[in-house]
Amino acid sequence: LAGKRFFDDCLEAQCALLAWNLEAVARATGGRLVAPSQAQRVLGEVSTDSRTIHAGDIFVPLKGEKFDGHAFLSTVAEKGAGCLVVEKSSTFVPPENIARVEVDDTLRALGDLARFRRRLVATMQDQVVIGITGSCGKTTVKEMTAAILKRRWPAGPDYPEGAVLYTKGNLNNLIGMPLSLLPITPRQRAAVLEMGMNAPGEIHAMALSAEPDICCITNVHGVHLAGLHDLDGVAKAKGELFAAAKDSALLVVNLDDERIRVLADGIQRKKITFATVDSGADMYASEIEAEPGGVITFLLHRGNETVQIHLYTVGLHNVTNAVTAAAIGAAAGATLAEIAAGLADFRPGDRRMVQLQTATGLGVLNDTYNANPASMEAGLKTLAQMGGKRTAALLGDMLELGDSSVAAHHQLGRQAAELGVDFLGVVGSFKDKIASGALEYGMLPDRVRLFEEKAAAAAWIESLQESGELTAGDWLLVKASRGLRMETIVERLTGNT
Ligand code: ATP
Ligand code: MG
Repeated sequence: LAGKRFFDDCLEAQCALLAWNLEAVARATGGRLVAPSQAQRVLGEVSTDSRTIHAGDIFVPLKGEKFDGHAFLSTVAEKGAGCLVVEKSSTFVPPENIARVEVDDTLRALGDLARFRRRLVATMQDQVVIGITGSCGKTTVKEMTAAILKRRWPAGPDYPEGAVLYTKGNLNNLIGMPLSLLPITPRQRAAVLEMGMNAPGEIHAMALSAEPDICCITNVHGVHLAGLHDLDGVAKAKGELFAAAKDSALLVVNLDDERIRVLADGIQRKKITFATVDSGADMYASEIEAEPGGVITFLLHRGNETVQIHLYTVGLHNVTNAVTAAAIGAAAGATLAEIAAGLADFRPGDRRMVQLQTATGLGVLNDTYNANPASMEAGLKTLAQMGGKRTAALLGDMLELGDSSVAAHHQLGRQAAELGVDFLGVVGSFKDKIASGALEYGMLPDRVRLFEEKAAAAAWIESLQESGELTAGDWLLVKASRGLRMETIVERLTGNT
């Protein structure tokens, strides 16, 4: 008991040591501190949001497309911010009791603050920081990994707030990633960070601020091609996570993906490999079965050991995601039993392959969170495996595909036809391309409909239910890129999302 109390006291003392002061802010960002007399003053948390700032907080104004946070400096000063981290060009002069740290670039300063905090905490607690990037499945793998690590380090008397910190939702960009990392304390044994990107250099910057101990690229597909030209461009940009990995880092390598293999081959680090089939990887799956009712089972192998996995979700791409998370978990020291228990805890969420029903019993796969060619294919394959007599799909644009847009939407229509979709409704600016692909590959014209409005597409599905062409046990997939907000269709059909 005495030992336990000592441990608690140490944790508390360490957390107190983490409080920011002006000197630390200036050191972390390499900025110039104006008002050095207050250097030791204790500050609150780092915030980029003028609306939620508390007295004493450190305000970092960011420049967005529409707003420049510097416009809110007087507001946060009134609210009693303790310190303003501003760009040199800022002309705002705060009242005397508010210090100012001048930097070249506030977005970069945010990443620097996260790195400072992460390094400081690493001196206090044995901790593993995990960075996950890739084209598809980042959020899913992040959630699955967090579920596994919560089994490895459960919340309990030693870690009442939970011992695993992980990205909330999809906060994976150059703002969200540091904000996800900043709350790290010695109370956590692991941090699981999703890293997304729109342009080369972003993953590099995130890797520099998080300094992950474990780095994983889920896969390389044609997503965000607009800014990255081609798949090699995508691979290079994702590969920044491996390229920036510190010497002691462990790389988690997807052997199913040729481009990732090549990326990893070029880098001398410890590695753990995974694959969905037995191809010499450290971890792989076999006996994969998709059971009706939305359960997937498979055997997970590590060397001579195996464990039975139950996944309460649909879509065979989730087997890949689960094996990915298992490999990351193993890299962090989880046992196979902890991996199995964690994966069984996982539930899909937030418009990713969520299974719903209409009043007539038509099954609806709500995968409206986002779409790209790889995830569309995964969605259509899942639809084909759902059972039921008939299948329908309401599909819309895959955005940000640049020059490959026309071909990709034509190909999507072809896949729908080849995977035996019975009714295909399409919306958005590429609807004619999807439709022409479907018709060219054999779908009957009266079963392919183009809609100007999402509501009309939903009405069509309703009429198919009324006529009995879609009945209980049949399945409908609804999917497009985020910009199309296809969940309004799901909401109308099921009263739910
Ligand atoms: P974002 O770039 O929006 O952050 P993400 O990489 O986090 O996306 P998820 O949110 O996990 O990806 O999944 C989004 C959709 O991508 C899923 O609903 C599914 O359709 C598809 N998907 C998920 N994992 C895979 C995978 N391993 N391979 C192909 N498609 C996938
Ligand atoms: Mg995501």
